[in-house]
Amino acid sequence: MKLIQLDGTEGGGQMLRTALSLAMITGQPFRMTNIRGRRPKPGLMRQHLTCVKAACVISDGTADGAEIGSTDLVFRAGKLRGSSYQFAIGTAGSTGLLYQTLLPALLHADGPSTLRLEGGTHNPLAPPFEFLDHVFLPALRRMGAEATISLIQSGFAPVGGGIIECQIQPCPKLIPIDLHERGELIDMRLRVPTRNLPDTIAARVLATALDQLPCEDAAVEPREPGPGRGVCCLYQANFANTAELSSSFGELNVSAERVGRRAAKALADFIGTHAAVGRHLADQLLLPMALAGGGGFTTMAPDEHVSTNIAVIGKFLPVKFQIDQADRGKRVITVA
Ligand code: ATP
Repeated sequence: MKLIQLDGTEGGGQMLRTALSLAMITGQPFRMTNIRGRRPKPGLMRQHLTCVKAACVISDGTADGAEIGSTDLVFRAGKLRGSSYQFAIGTAGSTGLLYQTLLPALLHADGPSTLRLEGGTHNPLAPPFEFLDHVFLPALRRMGAEATISLIQSGFAPVGGGIIECQIQPCPKLIPIDLHERGELIDMRLRVPTRNLPDTIAARVLATALDQLPCEDAAVEPREPGPGRGVCCLYQANFANTAELSSSFGELNVSAERVGRRAAKALADFIGTHAAVGRHLADQLLLPMALAGGGGFTTMAPDEHVSTNIAVIGKFLPVKFQIDQADRGKRVITVA
C-alpha cells in the first residue's frame, strides 16, 4: 500500500500519535518527517517512542526510525489484536497520551483488551488521569465506546512511577456525537492532589483557587505513598451534557498561589464562553468524531492542536472538518 507522507514540522507529539492510531485502524502505512520539528528538542522522546513501540505490539506492526531523537519514522501496522498488554514509558511521560493513542485502535480490535500503563499520571501539558476519567471518556461513551480506566498509583512529573489500568471492549463503529449545548451547570468540584510536600502548599493552592472561583465541594487530596512529590489543582465543572476539568501543576519557581489561580481562571474562562467542549477536549474529540464519520460541538477559540490534528486525519480518512464562528466568541466544529 502507498505510504502516506506526513510532515511533523508544525505540530507536536499529537500529530504522531494520531497518525499511529489511524495507521492501525485503516491499515495505511505512513512516513512522518520532521517529527516535533519546532519543539526545543525535536524528534521522538521517550513517551513518543513508547507509543510507537506499543503500536507495533498491539497491531503486529513494524517501525523504521524508532529511536530516541529520531525525526523520521515509517510505520506499518499489521492486524490489531485484543489482548492484555502492559507498557512502561520508563520516565514520567504521560500515560494519558499513550492511552489516547492505543484506545481508538483497540476499539477496532478483534476482542476485548486490558492495558496496564506505567509513567506519569499528572503531568503539565498532558491530560491528567481525572480529565480522562471525567471528561474524555464520558464523551467517548456517548459515542458508543465501552471503556473504563482506574488509577492504581499517581505518578507526578518529573519522577513518574504512576500506573493506570484500562478495560476496552471492541466498538468498530462509533456513533456521531452532538455536543452543541452543554446544558445547565450541575455542580463543581475542586481537588488538590498532593504527595510528599508540606501540607501548607496544597492548602495555599486550594485557598487561591477558591478565592478565584468559589465552590462548595473542595478538598486537598493527599495521594497514596509513592515515588516523587508533587501537587496539582484539578477544577471540574459538570453540566447536563458535558464536563470540563481544568488543571495546573506545581513547578519549581511557580508559587502555590499561581498554581491555584491558573486552574480556577481556566475553568472560569470556559464557563464564561458557554461552549460545550473545552480547549483540550476539542482537539482530542476530532479523531473519534472522524471515525464516527459525523458530529459536531461548540468550543472556545481553538489552538494549533486542532489544525494540525485535522491535517493528519485528512490524510487517512475521507472526512471534511468545518470551523464556524458562533455567538459570544464560540466556535462550532463539525465533521462530515
Ligand atoms: P510536544 O508538544 O512536546 O510534542 P506532546 O507529545 O505532549 O508534546 P502535544 O502535541 O502538545 O504533545 O499534545 C498534547 C495533548 O495533551 C493535546 O491533546 C492537548 O489537548 C492535551 N493536553 C495538554 N494539557 C492538557 C490538560 N491540562 N488537560 C487535558 N488535556 C491536555
